[in-house]
Amino acid sequence: MIDWQARAAALYDGGFRPMFIDGNWCEARSGEVIEARNPADGSLLATVPKGDAADIDAAVAAARKAFEGPWSKFTPFERQALLLRIADQFEAEWETLCLSDTLDMGMPIQRTLANSRRVLGMLRFYAGQAVTIHGETIPNSFPGEIYSSTVREPIGVVGAIIPWNAPIAGSIWKIAPAIATGCTVVLKPSEEASLTVLLIARLMREAGLPDGVLNIVTGYGADAGAALAAHPGVDKIVFTGSTATGQAIARAATGNLKRVSLELGGKSPVIVCRDADIEKAVPVAAMAVFANSGQICIAGSRLFVAREIHDEFVRRVADFASKLKIGHGIAGDTDIGPIISARQAERISSYLSVGPSEGAEVLTGGGRVEGEAFQGGHFIHPTVFGGVTDNMTVAREEIFGPVISALPFDSIDEVVERANATPYGLAAGVFSTHLGTAHKLAHRIKAGSVWVNMYHAIDPAVPFGGVKMSGYGREGGTEHMEEYLDTKAIWINA
Ligand code: NAD
Repeated sequence: MIDWQARAAALYDGGFRPMFIDGNWCEARSGEVIEARNPADGSLLATVPKGDAADIDAAVAAARKAFEGPWSKFTPFERQALLLRIADQFEAEWETLCLSDTLDMGMPIQRTLANSRRVLGMLRFYAGQAVTIHGETIPNSFPGEIYSSTVREPIGVVGAIIPWNAPIAGSIWKIAPAIATGCTVVLKPSEEASLTVLLIARLMREAGLPDGVLNIVTGYGADAGAALAAHPGVDKIVFTGSTATGQAIARAATGNLKRVSLELGGKSPVIVCRDADIEKAVPVAAMAVFANSGQICIAGSRLFVAREIHDEFVRRVADFASKLKIGHGIAGDTDIGPIISARQAERISSYLSVGPSEGAEVLTGGGRVEGEAFQGGHFIHPTVFGGVTDNMTVAREEIFGPVISALPFDSIDEVVERANATPYGLAAGVFSTHLGTAHKLAHRIKAGSVWVNMYHAIDPAVPFGGVKMSGYGREGGTEHMEEYLDTKAIWINA
């Protein structure tokens, strides 16, 4: 039995944790810091530098120097070997990484530990991809001996900006393909959860990552983030976060026409047909939202249920929700951890008020968790709203909290139209035992991923991303490599 409490006290003691530029651990040039507090109890874990535009300048210069210098000499096979060493290093330190995430952003430790297959898989998948990058020899229309071919080249310096809700997977899904392709990275983690990303940099360095290939600048979005997005020395921005910030980043990127890929928000539908296997569907539909306290971009927050089974199904989801164990993430039996910050808990609470004020019925939850054990933290009861209509605020806006809006439907055509009536298009779930219905829905729903009789599956080998206002570009799969590569045509007059 691991004593997480003792390990937590040894990991973070309230002291300063520097950021990482050009292989050096450093303070912000301004000397200012940001406090990293545990969202479960408000305790001070550490302070991190409040980096700004000056630090971003230094990090971009280091990334450029590495890109054009020593890193460019690494063969694909050497980059592959490095990624495999990093994966081994992560595997050896996996419990520490997970503990850090649980302390810094609240995700229950059982959930972070279970993510190892995905994260280690990402590192090893991109290690494999590193040695597959190649161009083509292409016939052309010129007479004589004129040969044309292509080579694939790394795009250059990549600026990565990530949110707070999954720091390990979120950062690795940006760093690993960059290393595989030969790019260099300046990564700005969220001001709400920087600590694990700093640990990641330490592990990568120990595994032999050369100076300047990965640089971490901690700081706020409005200064460090905005400076990175607008920086003329950055060739590409990869961003995960809210749609509003994604729009700001896309605008800022126009200065030097840097390429951009955006993984943004969602209001994903989960559709339960009348022929669904209800027993299996109830826990999956519930956890489609409640996992990570609803703080996941793919949260299936609009639960469409066939009218014939609606009341029974929704009652069972509410019952399931009311039994989830709420608590500190390092308690081994916690299902629902804290919300990241007071500000975010306020935001979710405002939806808990607006729902009933517009006519939604609270079937379970509906408020904050009170009591001595929750002092100093930000906890919200898993909530199911019944009697919801499509035009209500809770059915339209991304809440990013543990809140389900249940909506009955009468026909497949109708539910397709209603499910697609959202500016977002990130993900969707379908529950049906009828092959034809499952196919029909999977093909007609406008979303980057559709899961049938399951939810949440994300894999390094399978593309993930959004359509419409959920963004563009893909992470995962071989397509992902394209985001980090340019194609050069070479002509030879022999
Ligand atoms: P956010 O957009 O507020 O912040 C994300 C990151 O952007 C942070 O690092 C922040 O500091 C930075 N940032 C903020 N303003 C910036 C600016 N003007 N210029 C540059 N950077 C800036 O998002 P959040 O609150 O941290 O995360 C929640 C949002 O992220 C939700 O909308 C959620 O759906 C989305 N999300 C999407 C995915 C996905 O893969 N599609 C995954 C996780 C989260």
